[in-house]
Amino acid sequence: MLVGLTGGIGSGKSTVAELFARHGVPIVDTDAIAHALTGPGGAAMPAILAAFGAGVAAADGGLDRAGMRSIAFEDPQARRRLESILHPMIGAETERQIAAARSPYVIVAIPLLVESGRWAERVDRVLVVDCPVEEQKRRVAARSRLAPEQIDAIIAAQASREARLEAADDVIDNGGDLAQLQAQVEALHRRYLALAAAG
Ligand code: ADP
Repeated sequence: MLVGLTGGIGSGKSTVAELFARHGVPIVDTDAIAHALTGPGGAAMPAILAAFGAGVAAADGGLDRAGMRSIAFEDPQARRRLESILHPMIGAETERQIAAARSPYVIVAIPLLVESGRWAERVDRVLVVDCPVEEQKRRVAARSRLAPEQIDAIIAAQASREARLEAADDVIDNGGDLAQLQAQVEALHRRYLALAAAG
């Protein structure tokens, strides 16, 4: 059984994934896969350099993320081109890791699950980590150097809290403390084991 884990920036996805991992649940992290593909020696780098030129490489041979982000932000065609290189490779590596997992269910962490119809169809259940937007902003501000306007822009570019909840089969309320989060993960873990066993 595949559970797609999603939520807005700073909602607590990584924290929730870590809590499931403590129960022995395999986590396939599509963000980590994308990073590895575009890091030094990453499998996507030859195609990216061929498409955009050596200027998008950092000194270590990995992708200059800030540079690529501003190109993709200003030029939708460049963004689509980058995605047409990356998405199939991310998909293939994600499937490889899913196939290698030996457990009743697997969590696939997909930040933009609701925004990209493709993954919503692939997973059996959608698990949304929900928290109030103000709390989301506070957490992102506390852990990053982003300016408030940048945080607002990122949140505005993502699916709304309502759209995410609409797409959810299960919701974790992360408006509280970590103990509350842990208890919800434990309850869901039991539920997922039961659902997977029922086939
Ligand atoms: P995401 O992966 O969705 O961007 P994270 O799991 O990284 O979110 O959480 C964002 C930040 O908020 C992290 O610094 C994390 O430690 C913190 N955080 C998450 N949930 C809670 C919580 N319930 N209470 C306090 N801090 C939290």
